[in-house]
Amino acid sequence: MKRREFVGGLAATAGVAACAQQSGDCETDAGVQGQSFKWSCVTSWPPKFPGLGIAVNNLAERIDRASAGRLKIKVYGAGELVPAFEVFDSVSRGVVEMGHDASYYHKGKVDAAQFFTAIPFGLNYLELNGWLYYGGGLELWRELYEPFNLVPFPCGNTGVQMGGWFKKPINSIEDLKGLKMRIPGLGGEVLRRAGGTPVTLPGGEIFTALQTGAIDATEWVGAYNDVSFGLHKAAKYYYYPGWQEPGPGLECIINQDAWNSLPPDLQAIVEISCQAITTDMTAEYVNGNARALQQLLADPDIHILPFPDDVLQLLKSLTQEVVADMVAADPAAAKIGKAYYEYLARAEANSRVTEYAFLRTRKIAGQ
Ligand code: CA
Repeated sequence: MKRREFVGGLAATAGVAACAQQSGDCETDAGVQGQSFKWSCVTSWPPKFPGLGIAVNNLAERIDRASAGRLKIKVYGAGELVPAFEVFDSVSRGVVEMGHDASYYHKGKVDAAQFFTAIPFGLNYLELNGWLYYGGGLELWRELYEPFNLVPFPCGNTGVQMGGWFKKPINSIEDLKGLKMRIPGLGGEVLRRAGGTPVTLPGGEIFTALQTGAIDATEWVGAYNDVSFGLHKAAKYYYYPGWQEPGPGLECIINQDAWNSLPPDLQAIVEISCQAITTDMTAEYVNGNARALQQLLADPDIHILPFPDDVLQLLKSLTQEVVADMVAADPAAAKIGKAYYEYLARAEANSRVTEYAFLRTRKIAGQ
């Protein structure tokens, strides 16, 4: 699509709606339910990328089906309409109606948004969903995005990620010094304070950078996505857990004017479909990661290892410093961070006697 064709997207939407009301094709129960809409959705993912990219296509397809074709959404991969990291601005300005990305990409613009994707050593995906849907998190998110003319919806979660691929083993905190690693966001800042050099690279450039030695290590997502990029062919040490991203949630963002133009039933379909994708994406990752990990475990050249305790302890204490600095510099981050950590304390106490205790017990019982 040419640029000038999509710039007029919102105006065209209004025209489509009016036309549909007068057309004989709109035989629905009543009144406004006859309106139809054509939206564009830009994303930060390679087109149809497993997990992240498939999920947004599934979202569009489900909305189409549930609305009987009254809300059609055309999905664009990163770079097809706008670059990967311009999703937020494009939807905010109304260039397109919808976007799918991760709120921690808005670091430097809306720092506090990082709480809604992932904080190192923070909420896992079950806990994050609990906070967003029932613990007040989503209200804080909506309030944060209101000045940007955006309505956010949780829309997908990868589950806990892996710590990443390393060309050399990490035996102590000394091995972090001088380590050049692709690791974005707060995790990257933590690595920098540990003596490493964080690098931000889009997904499509990671494999070559690791293979050529331009970087010494990388995190990406987990076995499912990492194997699809071939990262296991470029480094042999695969560390866990993903301390940097314990359960990152993705976002669907909608331009406020576009949202307001939808009748209540289509708004409900969008909202419910986003929530369904949150469950669906995690299910895809749990299944895909398990299969890909099985492949990696069977490969004698690959070493799948836990980070040493002293490395994790250092990374955690540095995380506390990084978050403290962010909160001190930004009133919105202070407000959201206070709510996040109060919730985390309760969630942690609960997870300790439920999820964590059960998984540990299952392992013991299985020995
Ligand atoms: Ca990651």
